[in-house]
Amino acid sequence: MMFDKIALIGIGLIGSSISHAVRRKGLAREIAISTRRADTLEEARALGLGTQYTLDAAEAVKGADLVVLAAPVGAYEAIARTIAPHLAPGTIVTDVGSVKRHVLSAVGPHLPEGVHFVPGHPMAGTEHSGPGAGFASLFANRWTILTPEPGTDPKAIETTAAFWRALGADVELMDADHHDLVVAITSHVPHLIAYNIVGTADDLETVTKSEVIKFSAGGFRDFTRIAASDPVMWRDVFLTNREAVLEMLGRFLEDLSTLQRAVRVGDGEALETLFTRTRAIRRSIIDAGQETDAPDFGRAHEDDGTSR
Ligand code: NAP
Repeated sequence: MMFDKIALIGIGLIGSSISHAVRRKGLAREIAISTRRADTLEEARALGLGTQYTLDAAEAVKGADLVVLAAPVGAYEAIARTIAPHLAPGTIVTDVGSVKRHVLSAVGPHLPEGVHFVPGHPMAGTEHSGPGAGFASLFANRWTILTPEPGTDPKAIETTAAFWRALGADVELMDADHHDLVVAITSHVPHLIAYNIVGTADDLETVTKSEVIKFSAGGFRDFTRIAASDPVMWRDVFLTNREAVLEMLGRFLEDLSTLQRAVRVGDGEALETLFTRTRAIRRSIIDAGQETDAPDFGRAHEDDGTSR
């Protein structure tokens, strides 16, 4: 047992995955669950995700030695204000938000003296959301980045890191601004591109919607997985990581113009050189254990005995 009581504020994909993993590994005696809507709380209760269920986040954090914020980041400041007076000295508050500078400034100033804030971001997810979407192995062999401010209690940082390692994750410490730049290019801009291309295809008039869906296996459907991600969570990501996203988007647009020109002037060499470089990047991701080596993302095919 690492903790006497963990409070999970927000119980969607990430919160419920934490609950599954904590229970599987026996990391806490009690798990308090708090969320905004009564329906969601009932769903969490029906799934047996906790030992205490409440719509009042302040109630959930009473007696907790670890508090995990797992709601969309736009809700963090209000949650921090609500729970702050009920946090005991020595409590560790962490979070799972996809942006970190905003979280430090939205949450940090509200927490009382003696409470340790160790922000975190598990680099793991799916396009599903809600309490039923979670599973215990979500964080296994994925990175969790912690971005504590300088001066944060080293023991609290180590306990938070040990918690994530116990959930199966590898842990890295990083400055919050650097984190936001890294995820802008690895996660946020890719999501923006996916939302954009799926939106563009949906708006086309010369190609019918049914054709887009029927012939999607040409590549389009792989963007739709990302573009099916939770709308509220991703709205908040772009509202709170604006600078880093705009920086990376600027570079992306420059490179896209170069590519557009190569296509227009028929510069096959430029195209082939880039495509060779990008293929090597995919190989590196597979070699780093962050993706399956199976063709077509491991999708089942009729003639390989794995068809569903
Ligand atoms: P999700 O499945 O949509 O769940 C969000 C949860 O937060 C729901 O239980 C929602 O419940 C609750 N919630 C919303 N507003 C709230 C509020 N004001 N107070 C308390 N609870 C509230 O989202 P998720 O994917 O788990 O994302 C949660 C966090 O993880 C986000 O900050 C996101 O940036 C981060 N994250 C997500 C991923 C990913 O791939 N999905 C990966 C890494 C990190 P109600 O129905 O009660 O509103």
